[in-house]
Amino acid sequence: MKLAEGIRRVGFRKWYERQLLRSHGHLALTFLCMVGVFGALESMRGTGSWAERVEEGLTALLCALAGVWALRRYLRLLHHAEFAAHQAECAECKAYGRLDLVQSDATGERVTVRCRGCGHGWRIEL
Ligand SMILES: [Zn+2]
Repeated sequence: MKLAEGIRRVGFRKWYERQLLRSHGHLALTFLCMVGVFGALESMRGTGSWAERVEEGLTALLCALAGVWALRRYLRLLHHAEFAAHQAECAECKAYGRLDLVQSDATGERVTVRCRGCGHGWRIEL
């Protein structure tokens, strides 16, 4: 969910929370892929035929590729969430995350927001 859509639908704090949950879900997937890689490598040792070894090697390779993808996704989502969170504090009253969406660009990642407490406006850019 893009930042603008998230602020509009559920508010900044819920958007941030959901981004963290999504990113850590990808971290859990990375761990499961590592288990798959090690399981496939371990089963390669016990097999005798080349066909089975190739099959286990391909399984390890697929798990490794999925793990790299999941790790990159985890880092990207976490970075975006943290980058937005560092810009979510009102400069006037220091309220954190209490903001409303005023305007968004076409990408939904550059937004103008307004503080719910004091009405101060500023931009958040990802
Ligand atoms: Zn404020």
